[in-house]
Amino acid sequence: MASPSEQTTCETMNSEKYANVNWDELGFSPMPTDYMFVMKCSEGENFLQGNLTPFGNIELSPSAAILNFGQGIFEGLKAYRREEGRITLFRPEQNAIRMKMGAERMCMPSPSTEQFVDAVKQTVLANKRWVPPPGKGSLYVRPLLMGSGSAMGVAPAPEYTFLIYTSPVGNYYKGDTSINVIVEEKLRQAIPNGAGGVKAITNYAPVFRAVTQAKTKGFSDVLFLDAKTGRNVEELSSCNIFIVKGNVISTPATLGTILPGVTRKSIIDIALDSGYQVQECVIPVEDLMDADEVFCTGTAVVVNTVGSITYQGKRVEYKTGVESVSRKLYATLTGIQMGRIEDKMGWTVEVD
Ligand SMILES: *Cc1c(COP(=O)(O)O)cnc(C)c1O
Repeated sequence: MASPSEQTTCETMNSEKYANVNWDELGFSPMPTDYMFVMKCSEGENFLQGNLTPFGNIELSPSAAILNFGQGIFEGLKAYRREEGRITLFRPEQNAIRMKMGAERMCMPSPSTEQFVDAVKQTVLANKRWVPPPGKGSLYVRPLLMGSGSAMGVAPAPEYTFLIYTSPVGNYYKGDTSINVIVEEKLRQAIPNGAGGVKAITNYAPVFRAVTQAKTKGFSDVLFLDAKTGRNVEELSSCNIFIVKGNVISTPATLGTILPGVTRKSIIDIALDSGYQVQECVIPVEDLMDADEVFCTGTAVVVNTVGSITYQGKRVEYKTGVESVSRKLYATLTGIQMGRIEDKMGWTVEVD
C-alpha cells in the first residue's frame, strides 16, 4: 500500500498532466477548456494568421451573416492520447479538404489545408490536459467557419471568422453498445442539389424535430430517406450508415445529399483490406430491412452497431455482439487510431 506522502506526490503529478475532470463520466456535451483558436479575414482575401486566445464567448454584430442567414459550416475531429503518451489526430487533412468544399458551396473563404491542420494541432496542444487518458475518451475538436461580418440583404458577409474550440468527450449515444433507430417517414434531411453534402450549420436544426420525437419514443436516432423518392436510405442525423449481407457491405453513394464522412471513407478501406466486398450504391429501404447487420459511422459515434430499425411500425432486429462485422471494423479503426495496430495508410498525425 502507498504511504500518504507517496499518494500526495502522485496526485500532484496528475493535476499537472490532467485537468480536474471525472474521466469515467464523460458524455458528449460541451465542457469549456483552456484555449480556442481564432483567425479572421475579409471577403475576397485569404486567411493569413490566427491566434490562440483563452476560451470564452465571442462578440458578433446582431446583423452578422451567420446569425441571420446561417452562413457557416463546422467540422469535427478527435485527438487521442495513446498508451505511450503521444497525442495524435486522425486524418485531419480530410476535414480541411471538406471544410474547403463546404466554404465554396457557402461562398466563404477558407483556410488552406496546412493552416487548418496547423491550427488544430496548436489548439490541441494548448488544451493538452483536457485530452482524456487512454481508453476514457478523446478530445473533440470543433472547427467553425462563419460569416461574422454584417449583412442586411441576403448576401455573403464582408468578414469571416475561423474558430476552433475543443471539449473532452466519451460516448455519443448514451449506453453505447447497440442503438435502436427509427426510419423518418415524413421529414427529409437533404434535397438534391442542396447542401446535404457539406457540413453546413443550416442542415442540423431542421432535423431536431424528427430526432427529438424519436428520442421521446425511446429511439437513439433517426434514419432519413432520400427526398426525391422517399424509398432509399440516406443517413442518420450525424452519421453514415452501412448494411451487411453475407460478405457484402453496402453504403449509400455520396451524391450530394449525404455527408461524405471521413470515418465512412476509412471504414470502406478497412473493410476492403479485411476481405469484405464493399459497394456504394442506392439502398432501397427493403434491403435495409432484409440485412444481416447494420451499423453507422462518424467521428462522434465512431462505429456503432444498430440493433434494430423500425419502419412503418415494423421492427427488424440485427446481429450484434463481438462476432459482428461492425465490432471487428470498430476494433481495427480504433486500434489504428490508438496506435495498437500498425497505421499502414499513414492516417494518424502526431500533434507534438
Ligand atoms: C459529420 C457527419 C457525418 C460523419 O462524418 P465524419 O467525417 O465521419 O465525422 C455523417 N453525417 C452527417 C450528417 C454529418 O454531419
